[in-house]
Amino acid sequence: MLTIKCSRCRKKVFKYHKIGKGRVLHCWKDRIIKDFSVRDGTRVLCSCGNLIGTDKGSRISMKQNAFTFRGTKTHK
Ligand SMILES: [Zn+2]
Repeated sequence: MLTIKCSRCRKKVFKYHKIGKGRVLHCWKDRIIKDFSVRDGTRVLCSCGNLIGTDKGSRISMKQNAFTFRGTKTHK
């Protein structure tokens, strides 16, 4: 489970079930366990207004450097 936080205000944005190694380039919506984000059309924002990513339908394309994450990844 990863906790993804806004890099600007440090609030939680997602709790996310990450599978595999590497950077978080996108978040699949069906693996988002908790969603604290704010939506403005296809823009995915933190409640502080920081742009975190873009809604691409089944996934959210994450804007690098807009967020930090900590936690464990599931390796398959
Ligand atoms: Zn924020």
